[in-house]
Amino acid sequence: MSIVPSKFRTTQFELSDPALFRGFSYVGGRWTAGASAQMFAVSNPADGSHLGDVASLSASDSARAVDAAQQAFGPWSSMLPQQRAATLRRWYELILAHKQDLALLMALEQGKPISEARGEIDYGASFVEFFAEETKRPNIESVTSHLPDAEVEVWREPVGVAALITPWNFPSAMLTRKAAAALAAGCTVVAHPSAQTPFSALALAELSERAGFPAGTFNVVTGDAPVVVEPWMQDRRVRAVSFTGSTEIGKLLYRQSAETIKRLVLELGGHAPFILFADADLDQAVEEAIKAKFATSGQDCLGANRFFVERPVYEAFCSRFAEATSRLTVGAGMDDPDIGPLMNEAAVAKQEQHVADALGKGARLLTGGARHDAGRLFYQPTVLADVPADALIMHEETFGPVAAIAPFDTEEEVLQRANDTEYGLVAYLHTQDPRRIYRASRTLQFGMVAVNRTKVTGAPIPFGGMKQSGLGREGSRLGMEAFTDVKYVCRDWA
Ligand code: NAP
Repeated sequence: MSIVPSKFRTTQFELSDPALFRGFSYVGGRWTAGASAQMFAVSNPADGSHLGDVASLSASDSARAVDAAQQAFGPWSSMLPQQRAATLRRWYELILAHKQDLALLMALEQGKPISEARGEIDYGASFVEFFAEETKRPNIESVTSHLPDAEVEVWREPVGVAALITPWNFPSAMLTRKAAAALAAGCTVVAHPSAQTPFSALALAELSERAGFPAGTFNVVTGDAPVVVEPWMQDRRVRAVSFTGSTEIGKLLYRQSAETIKRLVLELGGHAPFILFADADLDQAVEEAIKAKFATSGQDCLGANRFFVERPVYEAFCSRFAEATSRLTVGAGMDDPDIGPLMNEAAVAKQEQHVADALGKGARLLTGGARHDAGRLFYQPTVLADVPADALIMHEETFGPVAAIAPFDTEEEVLQRANDTEYGLVAYLHTQDPRRIYRASRTLQFGMVAVNRTKVTGAPIPFGGMKQSGLGREGSRLGMEAFTDVKYVCRDWA
């Protein structure tokens, strides 16, 4: 049985394919509201309007999704890789064919500016295409034997059912990035999207059905996260967990995984430094700084939180960056502004807290610094200069449109300050000196280093962090590692 929540039809935005708007969970190839048929409401962060209701599944409903995935595992994992690849490829093509509808859903439920939402659909689809190809690559390695009378091979085998838990800030791409790798490896999937943005994931489930994934291969379970996810963490049949979200919940899942020794991928928080040396191209640096800070309205794990600027260009950068920031437009995702709403009241309160704390400790406000009159969940793009090292914003992820700038004098000093964080996801570096680029890239304790540019992500690269930014990598061939076990086979010649 399928459902199209009626509320959505009353909004001024029509999907060209209304069947993409799903309110039930997708389990074992069926749309279900679970045994209790309880629903929860999802609203548009731009104006608080009600978008629709979504099924809130119970713990036992959620456990049934693992039954379905376990049942589907045998047939899916033993399918010819070419067939798995063809199914993934059909999913990829369907996602692109419905890009506009998927972006619309995302702009409404997440608040993301519609052009950014379209970009996320492209980005997310690229993982499905990439892993459709990877599934065909040989997964057997022949090793030169260390024994005179034996032949040695190393195989990669799918681990089994994989649980995927995704955040609200990239409601589509975080799911495809994980699911495509898991499915390509031969695993089956149970996925929990954030309750704040479930419609993007449910639309992907609808397209997975059309792509022809066998029932139970890809399941999307909506509801209260602890209720849905905990049964998966306890279930010994769930062999891998891939999570994107806060470091706090990542640590909880790490602890919960210990009981059954699950494979883990954790993509957690970031606190990116943006380091600008005086020899860099200042025009380019200002342009890239705007992208590094304000993409996804600042709600981005890759978002630059701390700007360190070498003293000779400090004032010039501060004034040019503040001036460019003050020109950013703010509004609802569907109006395609530069900056959309924040996700919830707690996010807005965090901007206020970080700004008040920095100003109280002597920072200088260059632009912004208050809520925006576009609506309850909007905050002005803000730039703070002279932010002291003990300000909260220099240590905690702000996850919003507030930039903190501080001057530095030496390379050694700035690299030490950049590394002085428990996070290690991405660092941005601007300089023209090739030897400094090499030294800094080596010294920075971050999983990704972006030199003289901001955009570095994509399906072929290993995305992930060091220290408390996470474990494992997504994208690239490494993206399939957590979904496979290594088996070594040693055969006697005789
Ligand atoms: P979050 O609160 O940790 O939530 C992430 C996911 O975990 C959501 O699906 C959430 O569901 C679920 N969840 C919440 N409590 C849970 C529990 N007790 N057990 C199991 N699952 C639980 O993070 P967020 O606020 O949504 O996302 C922002 C964070 O994600 C930031 O720290 C950001 O840096 C990080 N992030 C990292 C990356 C990366 O690749 N490294 C990418 C994007 C975001 P509900 O939302 O329904 O509660």
